[in-house]
Amino acid sequence: MEMLIAGKWVDKKEKIEVRNPYDDSLLDTVPSGTAADVDEAITAAEKGYSINRSLPVHERIRILRKAADIVDANAEDYARTIATEGSKTIREARKEVMRAVQTMTISAEEARRIVGETLPFDSVPGSENRVGYYYRFPIGIIAAITPFNDPLNLVAHKLGPAIAGGNAVVLKPATVTPLSAIKLGKALMEAGLPANVLNIVTGYGAKIGDALVTDPRIRMISFTGGVEAGEEIVKKAGLKKIGMELGSNTPVIVCKDCDMDKAVELSVSGAFWAVGQNCIGVQRIYIEEDVYEEFEKRFVERTREMKVGPQLDEDTDMGPMITEGEAKRIERWVNDAVEKGARILTGGERAGAVYQPTVLADVPPGCTIDKEEVFAPTVNLYPVRNLDEAITKANDVNFGLHAGIFTQDINNAFKAIYELDVGGIIVNDSSDYRVDLMPFGGVKKSGLGREGIKFALQEMTEPKVVCFNL
Ligand code: NAP
Repeated sequence: MEMLIAGKWVDKKEKIEVRNPYDDSLLDTVPSGTAADVDEAITAAEKGYSINRSLPVHERIRILRKAADIVDANAEDYARTIATEGSKTIREARKEVMRAVQTMTISAEEARRIVGETLPFDSVPGSENRVGYYYRFPIGIIAAITPFNDPLNLVAHKLGPAIAGGNAVVLKPATVTPLSAIKLGKALMEAGLPANVLNIVTGYGAKIGDALVTDPRIRMISFTGGVEAGEEIVKKAGLKKIGMELGSNTPVIVCKDCDMDKAVELSVSGAFWAVGQNCIGVQRIYIEEDVYEEFEKRFVERTREMKVGPQLDEDTDMGPMITEGEAKRIERWVNDAVEKGARILTGGERAGAVYQPTVLADVPPGCTIDKEEVFAPTVNLYPVRNLDEAITKANDVNFGLHAGIFTQDINNAFKAIYELDVGGIIVNDSSDYRVDLMPFGGVKKSGLGREGIKFALQEMTEPKVVCFNL
């Protein structure tokens, strides 16, 4: 596939191969972009910005709706692309496509609600003769940088609100999963998005990232990815608006009064969805000791039922990790924990990029798999004396995106809501529950700002105040 610059699909001699992580088969190639391509894309986006900011909102709404319809009409093709270039099973990929359709549709709806308000100037002595208001105007050119794990919907979360708000975009998708992003770009162009408003440059972040994030014509960087790349970008960005959707090390609390069937089933799903490569995937489960034994037994049994295999098989529950290198990394982290005293209750084996769903107990505090984001199909179980201990331990990391709690006691739920340091709490479901209209983002190292269309639109537009001196 090609990249999109100034309304043209552009190829290059130097290519990047896109491979299926399960069997390493070659799916396609994309151009290996350069700093010069980024420069060209930003120059095009300058034109795109002046076009999109002048488009009537009803026209932006029409384009976003139509793009959503195009994705919907070709849902199976999008799902197969997600499932083959990435790790998701075909069933998981179909859900992502459905969500991307929602994301684009909600973007169209929210475009209508970019509103301001009148201001009470005459409430300030000396301003009796003033009237006015503020409205929101687009921010300019947005650099959108996206990760591999939701290769379609996380792109839609940037393009939808950016276009709805009247901005132009230069998108750099993850190098391992650029195809879904390019297909979304094609849908937008087919829907009538004017040339230059959206530009897509494919290429390695290490090679083209600096050209994108340091350019002063870029007014906002909207980044979703790991903490390391996020911190590097923030240091280099200079004076720009920053949106950072970063990683986490997500806790779930299981209280003794919980509905145990729900707690087991939903925590297993939350731990192994997308092979655990999920920023809100369940990583640490704190279980009140009265029910620890039962939970551990049932959680391990249910995990052993997971069928691991090729992403396109309808009965596969979990596919491969995104690369063999990533599978080797988690193998090292698990082995390190085991050397320090952890026990593997199930899993722990690797074959190529496939790492079996793995459950660990007795994980020593402070080892990598306890403190860092695993982004892999492993989960740690910890018994706790009570909810206080669970909350203290849940908070004892440098991340805070989502948390989950299973309890039938409303007092427990509210205690967790008030005391957990996170951007979202899910009561009686896994931490990985998300719909696309929610404010989404984290505290601590999990990020800055919020996505979720309405909230992204606030970040991607700025208020302009207007005052008449009568
Ligand atoms: P990543 O390695 O940080 O890469 C994310 C994106 O940044 C890719 O497009 C990457 O390009 C690019 N990039 C890397 N270094 C860069 C640089 N110096 N300058 C500019 N761009 C650069 O993350 P990933 O492995 O794809 O994704 C996993 C991470 O994303 C996890 O930590 C996960 O928690 C996080 N995530 C967060 C959310 C959220 O909403 N909070 C959602 C999903 C994922 P290349 O592909 O070319 O390296």
